Amino acid sequence: MSLLSVEELHTSYVSKHRAVAAVDGVSFDIQRGETVGLVGESGCGKSTLGKTILRLLNPSSGSIRLAGTEIADLSQRGMMRHRHRIQMVFQDPFASLNPRQTIYRLLDTPLRVHGLRDRRERQQRITDIVTRVGLSPDALRLYPHEFSGGQRQRIGIARALILRPDLVVCDEPVSALDLSIQAQILNLLADLKRDLSLSYLFISHDLAVVQYFADRVLVMFGGRIVESADHHALWHTPRHPYTKILLQAVPRANHPRREPAEPATARAAAPTESGTGCRFRHRCPAAIARCATEDPTLRRVAANHLAACHLA
Ligand code: SF4
Repeated sequence: MSLLSVEELHTSYVSKHRAVAAVDGVSFDIQRGETVGLVGESGCGKSTLGKTILRLLNPSSGSIRLAGTEIADLSQRGMMRHRHRIQMVFQDPFASLNPRQTIYRLLDTPLRVHGLRDRRERQQRITDIVTRVGLSPDALRLYPHEFSGGQRQRIGIARALILRPDLVVCDEPVSALDLSIQAQILNLLADLKRDLSLSYLFISHDLAVVQYFADRVLVMFGGRIVESADHHALWHTPRHPYTKILLQAVPRANHPRREPAEPATARAAAPTESGTGCRFRHRCPAAIARCATEDPTLRRVAANHLAACHLA
């Protein structure tokens, strides 16, 4: 059984009095111990997808099964029973950490809310997790503003892990950090995954980071998954023109960065651009007449490799 199974998930929001589909029929699985990368430009719907899986946003329709339990239609109260199993690491930990609470309090609150009454056991878990994320127990009496950006992200990770989740959704966890700190945090996440048997959904706009970190990669464009493959296949034999454009912007050893014909980050398709045909057609260097009239479905193009393109 998959740890997470998402089927035909839709999430809409209202803009200028009309419903806009930010996530438009997305399906994928995450196995236990797996890191799945989710990559795409800003505005493609990847963060909305992550927040919907956590039920921080309500889906319009579709299924989210966590270890076989349907959570898409649970009330927020019903979701409380499952919240400890799926947690999130945010891009900006400072914005998500209450500035008036010490680190001890920040880590103690979720344990109390989830019913761990034994004070000594809570203390033990808190000390254990701050040590695991590379902070000294002395840090527990300090406040978030007394830490650097990298240390704050370590605190954000500790808070995500304090309830011992199975799945952690990491939403751009290193994009606000300096390059040298990024590597430290990625290494920390990799160590924690190994030591605590975690699974990750790792969301990023940066394909280089996702390629480094993920076992399998989902490429998202205009609210949909347009390609899904293991990281090796995606790197060496991408099948969707959008993935190829993203890869062109990634510097590789002996292959300096080539500027794509249109910068990959120039413009994400607005979810409203769907209409008929492929929603990538206005930027696609390979588009043919059929692309204007027929919307490609996500289909198998090789073993464990899916792509939504008529030419894949
Ligand atoms: Fe390009 Fe057509 Fe493929 Fe869409 S279906 S990605 S427009 S070739």
